Amino acid sequence: MRLFDAHCHLQDDRLTPHLDGVISRARAAGVERFLCCGSSEADWGHVAKLAERVDGVVPAFGLHPWYLGDRTPGWKQALKDCVERHRGMIGEIGLDHALKDRGDADQESVFLEQLAVARERKLPASIHCRQAWGRMIEVLSDFGPHPPGLVFHAFSGTVELIAKLVELGGYFSFCGTLTYSGNSRAHKSAVAVPEDRLLVETDAPDLPPPEPDVPALGVVNGKAVNEPANLVCVVRKLAELRRCTEEHIADITWRNASNVLQPTRRA
Ligand SMILES: [Zn+2]
Repeated sequence: MRLFDAHCHLQDDRLTPHLDGVISRARAAGVERFLCCGSSEADWGHVAKLAERVDGVVPAFGLHPWYLGDRTPGWKQALKDCVERHRGMIGEIGLDHALKDRGDADQESVFLEQLAVARERKLPASIHCRQAWGRMIEVLSDFGPHPPGLVFHAFSGTVELIAKLVELGGYFSFCGTLTYSGNSRAHKSAVAVPEDRLLVETDAPDLPPPEPDVPALGVVNGKAVNEPANLVCVVRKLAELRRCTEEHIADITWRNASNVLQPTRRA
């Protein structure tokens, strides 16, 4: 089984001290590629270095809605330079209405500016959306379809959203939270996503499955630290929900991720 983790943060301080073990456990579990998403200007350099040094790491650069306050006045040029120099994708970007001081206008303008970079460079974008689906659909409908791909990471939307998001260029990535028995909304969506739009991810070091294949790399701020080797848990759950084999889920998600997230596709 060959797997592509379509969204993780290998540059995170919770993972970097253990990186050799993290990568070897991932490979032993069949995880050969990783979309490593930056979250703020401060971690883009680290993401770029990992992509250069670790086989299978595909870089993405973006300002996550949680870290907009840290951006510099030159962030947009820095993003373009990073993407160009390191042949990266765009992400993690998005809208988050569950944030305390959420500043919607700021979130939307930075999100749209980053989508514009994605459009200009014909790049896919990895998108975070929390409690903001209504507005997300409006913003993306105004932006228009984006054929290089809008990858909704840790997809938490309803079945009803899927067709509209597919029209706009949507791909749907499921993570460890899918394995929670009470997550019936995600279970239904995971069945409804068209086969050519399905992806799997861990969002490591966040969102560990409740019953991970490999034990957590400790607990930081009360949360277990997740790693890409646990991608297999997501594959297993998708196979159960979609009534097919794990090998089939591995094959289609590998093919989809390779189509949408490979830098070479820009050539
Ligand atoms: Zn993430």
